[in-house]
Amino acid sequence: MQASGESVRIGDGGVAAALLGWYDVNARRLPWRALPGEPAPDPYRVWLSEVMLQQTTVAAVRAYYAKFLELWPTVDALAAAEDADVMAAWAGLGYYARARNLLACAREVARRGGFPRTEEGLRELPGLGAYTAAAVAAIAFGQRAVVVDANVERVVSRLFAIADPLPGGRTAIRAATDTITPDQRAGDFAQAMMDLGSSICTVKAPRCLLCPLADSCAARAAGTAEAYPVKAEKKAKPTRTGTAFWIEQDGAVFLVQREGKGMLGGMRALPDDGWSARTDGHATPPVPGEWRPAGVVRHGFTHFDLELQLMLCGSADCASLPPGEFWPVDTVEAAGLPTVFAKAARLALANR
Ligand code: SF4
Repeated sequence: MQASGESVRIGDGGVAAALLGWYDVNARRLPWRALPGEPAPDPYRVWLSEVMLQQTTVAAVRAYYAKFLELWPTVDALAAAEDADVMAAWAGLGYYARARNLLACAREVARRGGFPRTEEGLRELPGLGAYTAAAVAAIAFGQRAVVVDANVERVVSRLFAIADPLPGGRTAIRAATDTITPDQRAGDFAQAMMDLGSSICTVKAPRCLLCPLADSCAARAAGTAEAYPVKAEKKAKPTRTGTAFWIEQDGAVFLVQREGKGMLGGMRALPDDGWSARTDGHATPPVPGEWRPAGVVRHGFTHFDLELQLMLCGSADCASLPPGEFWPVDTVEAAGLPTVFAKAARLALANR
């Protein structure tokens, strides 16, 4: 890492020049990246990584990214995949709507014969939001686009000391980012901002002495860097309760496929009581049998926390089971259960 040299000024290209100079030396090596000076990466890889990285850390994404590329090396291969296979491969990454959108988008790209090259064209693809469109346009196609993720939000809010609280403050942050985004190397600039945010301009204790933008930074000058970005007060998350059922027969556990677009839609799961709507946690088992409680699994979703009571069955009358499948208990971790049900499965295996 190197400290900043000459003084730079906001708005005259100085920020971009200083940042790109820093990036040329300090760019992170990531599997989906091209380093400065290398040809732009395949848009499929850029898009796939950006979708995975939303709400998820680089460390968590690496293995999933490698697995997806191995299973589906091209967007056409992904477009031809079975829904259930993709949902299972995504299991554990969370925010499962992303996987459903990923498939819808891949199929539209395959139908069109490739990714559109502009931000506007990319926005027309199903499930592809403003951030991803800007990132793919800039990084894969070298288009000037204003790319603002959480790292960029933090850097820019500090650089300009933007005091409007998030989420409303995003308009001002985006406008400020626009003023410093260069016409050339917009993809490198976006990735440089992300790298600066993750390695130097960190949430706690930013390392301003090593920052190439230190001389331009309003928050640093005021000694208030950690106060940005300002966030609106969070409402306390509600807690919901529900019940999941472990029905085992001949070394296999009964799994269902959750309905299309609801919570964890399309994923394999243990049968449950529809906890997304319940508050009391008392539920009728799907089949008669000798049921006993086996503990509670706690899991945090974006808008609520879940306490999921797990019920085990000694001997169940399986004649009246709803549609589903029996999956070998020994390989249940390969069933692609979303995290909350994977936790429930581990609890069942420890208590059966
Ligand atoms: S000087 Fe400090 S607060 Fe300002 S952008 Fe750099 S690391 Fe962040």
